[in-house]
Amino acid sequence: MAAAFTTLSTTETLKTEPWKKPWWHAAGRDISILLWVCLIHITAAIGLVLYPIPGWRIFLGAVALVFLGGLGTTVGYHRAIAHRALRLNPWARGVLIFLAMFNGSGAPTTWAAGHRLHHAKADTPEDISSPRWGGFWWAHLRWLWQAGEPPIDRYCPDLSGVSYRAWRWFQTPILALSYFGGLYFSPAAFFWLGAIRLCFGLHAQCFVNSVCHTEPGIAVGEDSSRNVKWLALMHLFQGENWHRNHHARPGSARLGWSWRQPDAGYALILALEKLRLATDVRHGTPHGRADSDDLIVKAA
Ligand SMILES: [Zn+2]
Ligand SMILES: [Zn+2]
Repeated sequence: MAAAFTTLSTTETLKTEPWKKPWWHAAGRDISILLWVCLIHITAAIGLVLYPIPGWRIFLGAVALVFLGGLGTTVGYHRAIAHRALRLNPWARGVLIFLAMFNGSGAPTTWAAGHRLHHAKADTPEDISSPRWGGFWWAHLRWLWQAGEPPIDRYCPDLSGVSYRAWRWFQTPILALSYFGGLYFSPAAFFWLGAIRLCFGLHAQCFVNSVCHTEPGIAVGEDSSRNVKWLALMHLFQGENWHRNHHARPGSARLGWSWRQPDAGYALILALEKLRLATDVRHGTPHGRADSDDLIVKAA
């Protein structure tokens, strides 16, 4: 039974078409991810029954945490670390990694490896989260615990330094702080600043993998990414919902191409650039040559 507790690689697991298994079949020790997802949903449901109206201070606190966590994920994890669309000052990077982990996005190396794999194999059977092959719930949530760990050494040779890899050791304490931290204020704050906020942030991110990969009329095995306007609201206008733009220019730090496509993540990058906390920003243009993403091409 020891094998049941080892970490399986995504490349091994996807060959077995894990989306055909029941949703509770976790890949090795990724059972901990399934238990975490169940925990925050059960706690959030209890919180919504006990404290359906938490008061405006707690509510705004939860919104602020969703906003900060989203920035950690979209600017820190996605644009800076996974795509190298900008270079962050180490302190700014550390703050954004902390916010992303507090948001429940996992360790930076795991996130970046899974994401680079997604771009390299988008909408093929080797894609870690394609709704084409696994259906909506696979793309939305199930891949998190059923796809296995993405091969970090293969997809993230540039993230081998201790400043990236050491974060995984802080995952449990950061998640404990994220889940329990509201207890310091009140029982209502425990539910709203913790599990309810974590569930909202989780689903906001997961919609990028599920509904943002459902463009109709695309041949099987080809990139089905699309821009989804309504998701801008759930992402608090941070830009991740312009997913077709992103797949067209994966190396660009900018996701929204006009004022009609709000992109607060890019606004933060411009501010960080002004403060010299971000350099080498690949600003990108909607009509120019596609920004290359050499790391992804090499890993594929
Ligand atoms: Zn995608
Ligand atoms: Zn990406």
